Amino acid sequence: MNSWFSRTLLNWNRLENHRQMPWKGEKDPYRIWLSEIILQQTRVEQGRAYYERFISSFSTVSQLASAPQQEVFKLWEGLGYYSRCRNMTKAAQAIVEQFNGRFPDSYKDVLSLPGVGPYTAAAICSFAYNQPFAVVDGNVYRILARIFEITIPVDSDAGKKHFNTLATDLLDKENSAEYNQAIMDFGATVCKPKNPLCNQCPFHDRCNAYKHNTVYSYPVKTKKLLRRTRYFYYFFLEKDDEIMVRERVTKDIWQHLYEPVLVEAEKELSEKEINPLLRKIGIPADSVSGLRYSVKHSQQLTHQQICGIFTHVSLKNKVDALSGYQWVNKSEFEKLPFPRYILSYLKEKK
Ligand code: SF4
Repeated sequence: MNSWFSRTLLNWNRLENHRQMPWKGEKDPYRIWLSEIILQQTRVEQGRAYYERFISSFSTVSQLASAPQQEVFKLWEGLGYYSRCRNMTKAAQAIVEQFNGRFPDSYKDVLSLPGVGPYTAAAICSFAYNQPFAVVDGNVYRILARIFEITIPVDSDAGKKHFNTLATDLLDKENSAEYNQAIMDFGATVCKPKNPLCNQCPFHDRCNAYKHNTVYSYPVKTKKLLRRTRYFYYFFLEKDDEIMVRERVTKDIWQHLYEPVLVEAEKELSEKEINPLLRKIGIPADSVSGLRYSVKHSQQLTHQQICGIFTHVSLKNKVDALSGYQWVNKSEFEKLPFPRYILSYLKEKK
């Protein structure tokens, strides 16, 4: 059933798909896993350099498992969604401890690794071992919803079940590695969320959404994403060669990344309202020798928009580190991992 689908997809892959990626055709499950974790919320163009850096720093899963967390975070810096990085180190340790350092080869064991969901497990098992598991992600939802004009919302339980069943049904079980890679590439290069290349699409005579001119109505979703804005006022408290920083330890966002002194505000403040924040955190006005406001930077996360406002504060005398913070010198500071927008601010400032 539905063999026309896999036949059309594989023909397109063999004749027209020219997408190059360093991990394409890779059979080593460790490398496949690394590439999949890096690509979970990252574009291929950005992920490529990170993948190569990780492979050259940690050529085996045991090397990654025994690396200090700060070193792994520094390598990950700029990729965002740091829970992926934390889970990656936990998974590497689990492979060493539970599977004697050999990457597991059963879907169930692969799925048991921290940070590995059904999509990543299907990708690893199909690419490394050609096992018949279909990848199902946003790309696959979009392609199938458009071609079959599926009106069940993809973010409902019924929708997930329906799309999973259909994707498994459509999979070419003899060629699952090639099929899965092809459907990912097809979603990224032809049936794109915006401006899909319908005129060049090998499915256009079968695609119901194209026939009915409803391409942009699919996939159907029930929930609208609500995003709240948070205002982070950062103070770079500096004395000579030292800066005050802390590691974020709470489960909020960016756990284990570093930041200068932070005061979170309910709303955007005027410059006049920023000075009193310093007193609020225990830095008296007479200990400040210079104050420099900088540009605003923001970072979009899935459910929140973080707006960071950076102020540099030169101190006349070194004060005791605030609770939870520490003084570090500039060379130590540069080795610490920071959230992406702090990092881009620091690079821009140089
Ligand atoms: S015709 Fe357009 S909407 Fe339909 S599968 Fe092809 S690219 Fe996607």
